[in-house]
Amino acid sequence: MYDVVIVGAGPAGATLARLLGHRLKILVIDKRQLLEKGSSVRSEKSCGGLIAPDAQQMLARFGLGVPKEILTGPQIFTVRTMDIQNDFERYYQRHYININREKFDKWLVSLIPSEVHIASGAILKSFETVNDVIKVQYTREGKEQTVYTKLLAGADGAFSTVRRKLSPVTPAPKTYITIQEFYQTDSSYPYFSAIFDDEITDFYSWTITKNDLLVLGTAVSPKNQPYEKFLALKNKLFSKGFKFGSCVKRTGSYLLRPGRLNEICLGKGNVALIGEAAGWISPSSAEGLSYAFRSANALADAIQAQPDNIIAEYERNTRSLRMNIRLKLLKSPVMYHSFLRKIAMKSGFMSIDIVQGNGEAEKNGRLKCYENTLIP
Ligand SMILES: Cc1cc2nc3c(=O)[nH]c(=O)nc-3n(C[C@H](O)[C@H](O)[C@H](O)COP(=O)(O)OP(=O)(O)OC[C@H]3O[C@@H](n4cnc5c(N)ncnc54)[C@H](O)[C@@H]3O)c2cc1C
Repeated sequence: MYDVVIVGAGPAGATLARLLGHRLKILVIDKRQLLEKGSSVRSEKSCGGLIAPDAQQMLARFGLGVPKEILTGPQIFTVRTMDIQNDFERYYQRHYININREKFDKWLVSLIPSEVHIASGAILKSFETVNDVIKVQYTREGKEQTVYTKLLAGADGAFSTVRRKLSPVTPAPKTYITIQEFYQTDSSYPYFSAIFDDEITDFYSWTITKNDLLVLGTAVSPKNQPYEKFLALKNKLFSKGFKFGSCVKRTGSYLLRPGRLNEICLGKGNVALIGEAAGWISPSSAEGLSYAFRSANALADAIQAQPDNIIAEYERNTRSLRMNIRLKLLKSPVMYHSFLRKIAMKSGFMSIDIVQGNGEAEKNGRLKCYENTLIP
């Protein structure tokens, strides 16, 4: 019998296992092959791979520094905000750490104490509670496995099986489908572009450079011809001067966007949800790593406190995280309403001027093409 079975070894699940692994009997199951170093098995989570300041702060609080093998280039200090409808753009300074997400996830798994049992390539099928004990069934290498646990932690991401089997507990957050394509490029784009265009999506699209690859991504409604929208986005950016070489990789994934606090589900009884499975993700930027870390930390503290009601304790521990989501929900309407965004961008508040080759600052803000560098 396990104390905790964790479904999902992404940032949330791997963090929970790391924090509890020395004290409790734990099993982690993940359908990906995250343990095998240098394995040829694809185990990448579709992601922009940017560690934002809030996630950096959590890594600092955990006493962790990101190993250099996980970094990719360029390191990014600038967000280029492009409003296609209003034909306007601004640059903002922001400090991201640009990483290879697959290596990052494998590194987090490598930090899990050796006492923890890890089943890679294992897919959760079902669970049921019988007399306060949870019977968990999963398949691995085609064989069905059954284990028993006192607590089940669902850390299985946006398309969480654990959450779906618990439902209906709370309304689910809005679900987007994300598409990312990786193109060879010999131009350099030393910024993270955040692209707003209501014709493509009511959320946003982005470009990020990963070494010699330019990543173009978008989060769109699954119901509204997602790939056609992606191609329309690509065409628009091409006409703005972006150069897309041959496509070497395409990834896709679900993405949640909570619209209300009651869409975040912490769990029920002896089943808890952390990370994106719970709906912990920024509704304004889709930044999810900090929420994965913070919710895992909150649940680890709740479990160690040994309360009668773990979910109630976990809820207490996530008060500030809920406040954080509340603030992002207040910020969202300004970012995602065309007119309000135009006013905010035109005000130039917090934006930086781009210095041109002749030393003059670019203050106009009209959307134009800077092909190779921030300094046109
Ligand atoms: C396209 C895209 C770009 C993003 N870019 C960024 C970014 O740049 N920065 C940022 O901070 N956030 C970003 N996010 C959000 C971020 O990736 C997530 O919020 C974060 O990964 C959530 O971590 P998690 O551990 O909760 O879930 P995940 O990272 O999704 O991990 C879930 C794990 O559960 C496993 N799993 C799922 N189902 C099962 C099952 N049935 N059985 C066994 N295992 C299972 C999966 O294999 C996976 O390993 C992005 C998201 C998307 C979709």
